[in-house]
Amino acid sequence: MQIVKFPHPTLRHISKPLRRVDGGLKKMVREMFDLMYEYEGIGLAANQVDLPYRLFVMNLACDPDAKDEEHVFINPVITSRKGSAEDREGCLSFPAIYAPVTRPEKIVVNAYALDGREFTYALDGLYARAVQHETDHLDGVVFIDRLSPANRLAIKDDLAALEREFAMLRDRGHILGDNSIAARLAELEAARA
Ligand code: ZN
Repeated sequence: MQIVKFPHPTLRHISKPLRRVDGGLKKMVREMFDLMYEYEGIGLAANQVDLPYRLFVMNLACDPDAKDEEHVFINPVITSRKGSAEDREGCLSFPAIYAPVTRPEKIVVNAYALDGREFTYALDGLYARAVQHETDHLDGVVFIDRLSPANRLAIKDDLAALEREFAMLRDRGHILGDNSIAARLAELEAARA
């Protein structure tokens, strides 16, 4: 398992709700947490590890020992959005790129935990922001899509550098073609339908 970077096509995949939690999914979630800690992130969505599943993991403390801060959101749905707030965001799929993003300040999110329990959280602050950022990933939306034109312009060169790196990796055969990636995602999705 590894993190895919912009402009990898799996970041644009819209994932369908998962129907069940099994041992394979639990193992995958553990790997996602480990990878997130390795890169010092606070959240990681399945698309970011090239998987078509509607789930993300989160630990706002970014601390592997803080197990009670570990949250898995399966099939998250944001049912309420209120207010507006701006803060700087980054993303493990956009290394070293940070920009201010305006989002609703308070949300209510409904999701399932790894034990199958359904939960509803009313969130604000960083938690609300992070959940919105990760839920976006599951819809194929990345944080740069939500930047103001001026803020987008400010990171233009950094994005171009990531695009060049992606093209180079693909030329060298390290990244599959778009059709092969889509076929692989469809296969993985069908196996869990
Ligand atoms: Zn992200």
